[in-house]
Amino acid sequence: MSSLSPLLKQATPVIVDHAKGSWIHGTDGQDYLDFTTGIGVTSTGHCHPRVVEAAREQVGRVIHAQYTTVMHRPLLELTEKLGEVLPTGLDSVFYANSGSEAVEAAVRLARMATGRPNIVVFQGGFHGRTVAAASLTTAGTKFSAGFAPLMAGVHMAPFPYAFRYGWDEQTAVDFALRELDYLLLSRTAPHDTAAFLIEPVLGDGGYLPTPPAFLDGLRERADRHGILLLLDEVQAGCGRTGRFWGHQHSTALPDILITAKGLASGFPISAIAASTALMSKGWPGSQGGTYGGNAVAAAAGCATLDVIRDEGLVENARLRGEQLIGGLKPLQGKYAEIGDVRGLGLMLGIEFVHADGSADAETAAAVQQATTRHGLLSLTCGPAGNVVRLIPALVVTADEIDLGIERFQASVAHVLEP
Ligand code: PMP
Repeated sequence: MSSLSPLLKQATPVIVDHAKGSWIHGTDGQDYLDFTTGIGVTSTGHCHPRVVEAAREQVGRVIHAQYTTVMHRPLLELTEKLGEVLPTGLDSVFYANSGSEAVEAAVRLARMATGRPNIVVFQGGFHGRTVAAASLTTAGTKFSAGFAPLMAGVHMAPFPYAFRYGWDEQTAVDFALRELDYLLLSRTAPHDTAAFLIEPVLGDGGYLPTPPAFLDGLRERADRHGILLLLDEVQAGCGRTGRFWGHQHSTALPDILITAKGLASGFPISAIAASTALMSKGWPGSQGGTYGGNAVAAAAGCATLDVIRDEGLVENARLRGEQLIGGLKPLQGKYAEIGDVRGLGLMLGIEFVHADGSADAETAAAVQQATTRHGLLSLTCGPAGNVVRLIPALVVTADEIDLGIERFQASVAHVLEP
């Protein structure tokens, strides 16, 4: 036996043997209801037959042709299919492999197109783990610890985290917009600010939906100052929140939309979309990447978008999300340790707190571990690690949601009523 082992610490002790739909079958012979989905990656469920078939077929046709050199059919088709769901006006797409790379491409484009250096991010945002993406990430010090200096030109503004401040949503939005205006006066002038970068739902930062009024406020300021609005839809996009894009809960439209994860059901592909006018002010010819827009991943992406449309998965995410939050919300009244149960569609966060309202990461971790023992896979998130997040596949059924609620309740009872 080799002494080598995978580098990173695993959140659960489960080793996957095979997986199908909402289920992971472990090498331990146990079946686990998967409410992690690789953080929303296996959007159409594990190994959806149409995605499997599309990838299988593509492997025998052409595995890779670098699309900046030789275009291939799956990417043309994927671009056409994306065109059907992208906001009007975002008619140019650049492909990469991961969310981090796409974020970097978006920031690079924003700087080149505006000629301005600075990017404003919002507290608790997560944008990836490469050095630039980690520099834009404020979802926890662990994401940037130990490799300073980070990329320069990043400024952080408050996020309207109403629960944490103990305010209603509108008060939190007004506060955060006022602080943003102050940041633009005190630290990074509009003429030095290329972009605002934000997620429609903070993901790793704690499963916090960005209030629609806040996104609208950002859009208004972006227009006023010639700043670009970059929406990181890597986790919240592709149907997850019950709308195709997470920002569609507001009226704000992005200048650059960033997508990845759920786009190809587990195959690595990411994209940024912008208007052709904006894209052409940036880096045509200077941007690329060896594997970006890989043919097999693109074929899986086409099948994924077809399945999302044909099986009504955006609507399913909305309905099953309502069922999930409806089933778990009562826990907030039942246990003092559960401060908040919140979410949008199939992105649900349960925030654990001490009696004084401070973050209780220990209980969150204990509950997350207990869910595995109860046959339900979950994850923690948030800068303090005190939020348990549930991210079912978009194909999840009503029965599976009921079972997930039952197993989550049993896990909480196991930890809090020993
Ligand atoms: N942005 C968001 C919102 C994400 O959730 C993630 C991944 N958790 C990323 C960017 C980075 O994506 P990747 O891990 O594919 O680089």
